[in-house]
Amino acid sequence: MSFLKVLFRNLISGPSTDPFPFGETFTPKALRGRVVYDASKCTSCRTCEQVCIGGAIRFDNTPDGRRFLLWHDTCTFCGLCVFYCPQDALEMTTDWHLSHTQDEKFKMVEHGLMPKAACAACGAEYVAVAPTAKAFAGYEPTPEEVEELRQYCPRCRRKEAAKIAAAHPPAIAADPDTPEQGQS
Ligand code: SF4
Ligand code: SF4
Repeated sequence: MSFLKVLFRNLISGPSTDPFPFGETFTPKALRGRVVYDASKCTSCRTCEQVCIGGAIRFDNTPDGRRFLLWHDTCTFCGLCVFYCPQDALEMTTDWHLSHTQDEKFKMVEHGLMPKAACAACGAEYVAVAPTAKAFAGYEPTPEEVEELRQYCPRCRRKEAAKIAAAHPPAIAADPDTPEQGQS
């Protein structure tokens, strides 16, 4: 009889399991899902490609610029590329809606392009990757200064960064044990 009680109770209360795929389901906040890429932040250091455990990331030089490709089908969602990207150009989302038919497999790609441009100083064609703050020799550049460097090729960029850094000499902290002039 106790079995019948449980049966009736369950019939009245309805299903207690997740309705997916016929309804919405719950997505954990910390889920590691689809990786997205922002070409405007990328310096093309290729660290992500080196650490990618699934071999999902690839860079190609094309007539239009340097192309970034990340194959969602090959990605293992380990998060290493996001962790090691020094520019925060990669982000892991909680989007897990990646199921697809065999015909759609070549569409399961995250891609971006670092376009070719003409250097503002020498006119040489270069791939306009994001500048790194390292070029400023210890000076912490403003976002505007970093952005300004984007318009220069690597060679001119080094010169312009050196000029900006030279205009901001590092402050030398006073040594409390060194007597000021005239006090010794
Ligand atoms: S996405 Fe990040 S790690 Fe990958 S090349 Fe660009 S800056 Fe480097
Ligand atoms: S999450 Fe892991 S497997 Fe996926 S692209 Fe990044 S490094 Fe590669």
